[in-house]
Amino acid sequence: MPKKSLGSAKPAGNNRNAGRSSTAAGPQNTRRDQITGMPCETSGFAPRILGSRITQLDFRKLTLIGGELNLLRTHTCGELRLDHVGQQVTLCGWVDTHRDHSGVLFVDLRDRYGRTQAVFAPESGDETVKAAKTLRSEYVVLARGTVALRPEGTVNPKLNTGQIELRVEHLEILNRSLVPPFQPTAMELPSEDLRLKYRYIDLRRPEMQRTVLLRHRMIKTMRDYFDALDFVDVETPMLGRSTPEGARDYLVPSRVQPGSFYALPQSPQLYKQILMVAGYDRYIQVARCFRDEDLRADRQPEFTQMDVEMSFVDMKDIIGTIDGLVARLAKEILDLDISLPLPRMTYDEAMERFGHDAPDLRFGMEIVDITDLAKQSEFKVFRNAAEAAGRVRGITAKGAADRYSRKGIDELTAHVVENFGAKGLAWFKVDADGKLASPIAKNFSADMLEKIGQRMDAAPGDLLLLVADKYETTCKALYALRKRLGAELKLYDPAKMHFSWVVEFPMFAVDTEEGGWTAMHHPFTAPRSQDRGLLATDPQKCRAQAYDLVINGSEAGGGTIRIHDQQLQQQVFELLGIDEATARERFGFLLDALQYGAPPHGGIALGIDRMVMLFAGLDSIRDCIAFPKTQRATDLMTDAPGSVDAKQLRELGIKTTG
Ligand code: ASP
Repeated sequence: MPKKSLGSAKPAGNNRNAGRSSTAAGPQNTRRDQITGMPCETSGFAPRILGSRITQLDFRKLTLIGGELNLLRTHTCGELRLDHVGQQVTLCGWVDTHRDHSGVLFVDLRDRYGRTQAVFAPESGDETVKAAKTLRSEYVVLARGTVALRPEGTVNPKLNTGQIELRVEHLEILNRSLVPPFQPTAMELPSEDLRLKYRYIDLRRPEMQRTVLLRHRMIKTMRDYFDALDFVDVETPMLGRSTPEGARDYLVPSRVQPGSFYALPQSPQLYKQILMVAGYDRYIQVARCFRDEDLRADRQPEFTQMDVEMSFVDMKDIIGTIDGLVARLAKEILDLDISLPLPRMTYDEAMERFGHDAPDLRFGMEIVDITDLAKQSEFKVFRNAAEAAGRVRGITAKGAADRYSRKGIDELTAHVVENFGAKGLAWFKVDADGKLASPIAKNFSADMLEKIGQRMDAAPGDLLLLVADKYETTCKALYALRKRLGAELKLYDPAKMHFSWVVEFPMFAVDTEEGGWTAMHHPFTAPRSQDRGLLATDPQKCRAQAYDLVINGSEAGGGTIRIHDQQLQQQVFELLGIDEATARERFGFLLDALQYGAPPHGGIALGIDRMVMLFAGLDSIRDCIAFPKTQRATDLMTDAPGSVDAKQLRELGIKTTG
């Protein structure tokens, strides 16, 4: 990988307006405060030069005021090319492979930049060859020598450094290694448990390094983007009060106040709203969030969000800001030009067309509604569902009739019945004459079959799958079928990226555990202004100023415009069954703040781990985090969570039963 120039670190204060037009930065000759960027007269700060100690930053030569760093190596293991032939160089790295070819030793040295072949021949000298013979996998060495052309026929075109080799004259073993539990560059991937236990070895794997670097670049791109738009990066506390994102909290006991607990933030939601009240009208934070939930492949108990909040904006402004960010990321990370604005659809439309609020738009196969036909049909299952205020809906899998045998369809049926509570799955195969064939076909008139076929755009060879049930069940079942068939029938290119928005979510969802309503996003979400009246009359119909960013059928982020009016907030709390005392207890500080000049504001949080996973084309979020936890929320390397001393518990006033 080409080495990134770190550039020269100019005094931070002078850097601030770099790259901006003079109009945006204001008149060039105005003396500006180094920290706030405001004209000095206004800010009252005396100008200071920040970062002036570092005058030059270069990989090999870190020149600091007051001395030069003596780095051990002159080049990285991924750097040497034909141009370097004849040069004396020093490499440092790990022993990747070592082979002895009748007295000539070939050792591949590896670091995060690549691999270079080091050769130890009799010309290297007896001492050096003797030391080289003791080298084993993952030893850390320093090798000095001359860069040489590889002899003809030994060039390795797969390696960036494959045209040269290092003829070693001097070798130092910087450290030895035990036999590693697996080779970082072995073809076969060891079990995930082993990888997580020996994460330091796993992180040496080029694939992991690529992802770690991609993550770094994505976060840097985001920060640069927001910085150029005057966003301010503010850190908010880890030890705080419970935040209302709807998950279980991780609690931290207080020693000085026994019996009291901090909650680790489920998100910085309340703090970022407070920052808006405090006048920091554009906020970001790369924020760690903690939610004690049951884990799935794309969930972690602690995860990272790019947290954003803005004042004096509406939904369009926030979506537009994130559109720009997505385009920048696509270009910077994937060299992809995407056209803006990103497509948007409402939540209701997403559920109608795809059965889900994060639809995968890389392929079609949209849901078709035949409830009106079902009502007139002779088939009781359809008619009953339609008459009981349910829906009959289905999807058409083009050309898939032959791909699914009776057994295959039985499997699809079991999938939707067992996992999504559907009562069954009706299906038709379209024969060569365009007629719908199925064991249930005899229950329909020929005319009705034709109408269903027409509605579902049936053509010879197609497979039609239909669910007759409550609306929610048809959504879940058909979403699952569409997802499964999309993958099985290879209806999309997995390398393709699709970005879109789903907007205007319901304000409330039915609380299945406790009855009543729960907030679909969180309790600070504002309803659409035209829906305010519905809060009193029909809360279920009330739609929120809410938006989710969807990438390839995954929710990559979500946010809302917030309520900045205390009365409206009160009304929403009441609907959510949060009484005044509880609201005071839990978020009294926010309610107070809302009464001291809260500007209209809103924000969003983007899931960085998930976005890295999607941009890197990976399937597991654990591969996108340097030190992740298992599905059981354990860190296999450190063995956390672990037991603590009895003394620590005593100090905290805690008795355990385990
Ligand atoms: N705090 C929200 C979350 O973590 C995001 C937001 O509303 O800005 O999902």
